[in-house]
Amino acid sequence: MKLTQIATASVLATLCAASFAQSNELNIYSARHYPTDEALYGNFTKATGIKINRVDADDAGIIARLKAEGASSRADVILLVDASRLWRGEIDGLFQPVKSRLLSDAIPEQLRAKTDSDGKTPWFGFSTRARVIVFNRVNVKPQDVDTYEELADPKNKGKLCIRSGSHPYNLSLFGAVMEHMGEKPTEQWLKGMVSNMARSPKGGDTDQIKGVASGECGIAVTNTYYLARLMRSEKPEDKAVMEKVGVVFPNQSSWGTHVNIAGGAVAKHAPNGTNAVKFLEYLASPLAQNHFADGNNEWPVARGVQISNPALQAMTGGNFKSETVPISVVGMNQVKVQQLLDRVGFK
Ligand code: FE
Repeated sequence: MKLTQIATASVLATLCAASFAQSNELNIYSARHYPTDEALYGNFTKATGIKINRVDADDAGIIARLKAEGASSRADVILLVDASRLWRGEIDGLFQPVKSRLLSDAIPEQLRAKTDSDGKTPWFGFSTRARVIVFNRVNVKPQDVDTYEELADPKNKGKLCIRSGSHPYNLSLFGAVMEHMGEKPTEQWLKGMVSNMARSPKGGDTDQIKGVASGECGIAVTNTYYLARLMRSEKPEDKAVMEKVGVVFPNQSSWGTHVNIAGGAVAKHAPNGTNAVKFLEYLASPLAQNHFADGNNEWPVARGVQISNPALQAMTGGNFKSETVPISVVGMNQVKVQQLLDRVGFK
């Protein structure tokens, strides 16, 4: 063999090795902050032989990192835990729209981004969580907090605890409310909430639930999986918290309870794009969908998946009415909502 042939052969071998390595790996940037997800990733590797490398950060951190890395990013799949962040990622051009019959059949239209004329969708919801109201059983009656509107009612003055208005979970809730009520009434509503606060916004959702249990707050707003986690906990202190608080799924006789999503997308510059689509399709499978329900107390999005999570059953009595505003519209409203928050001094 001549020298040039040897060189060519070795370049080819290197290329083959490189493409082999690529085809067996998947780089996930994930904002899912749930330890029970390890099994979710493990099952995928077991089934496909594709090794997962994970970078964990919060939604904002992931978006910032993708922007900084640009075209040299190694990210294949992006997992975020809120509709407004997914919308932000789409607008900032960080995703690669996907055409997958399996995904568009499995996931209802309302729970994914708008599909373009080529049949490609920028991102998909894979699980849902409701944003509900908890109340102190001793000094608040459930009928005084069974709508989001009542969070701003003067009868609830000095009782409300809620995390920062600018947190994505609240931006999405307020964005949905704006869709139902219109901009001016939403501004009034936010203002009413500010004057009902028991304390300035601080902490996460679990801190608000604990504030209600301790009596510092009469009412709070939380995502359902934080509640379900406390309901399923064996710790005496968690049991004690849940004895003191009641749960309301708001607006059951009007537009329904606000539901947010956790979802995912393929990264714009994904080096392992085929594996990335495979992974998203796996997330829509009954196995993975059940994992969201059992592992992290979320509701599956895929059509026809049954769940048997006792905490979710206990919370809802089996079913509840959720709103029908497309989650992509909710994401889109966040810019306007942030302006309203600044205007009324909602921290
Ligand atoms: Fe969370």
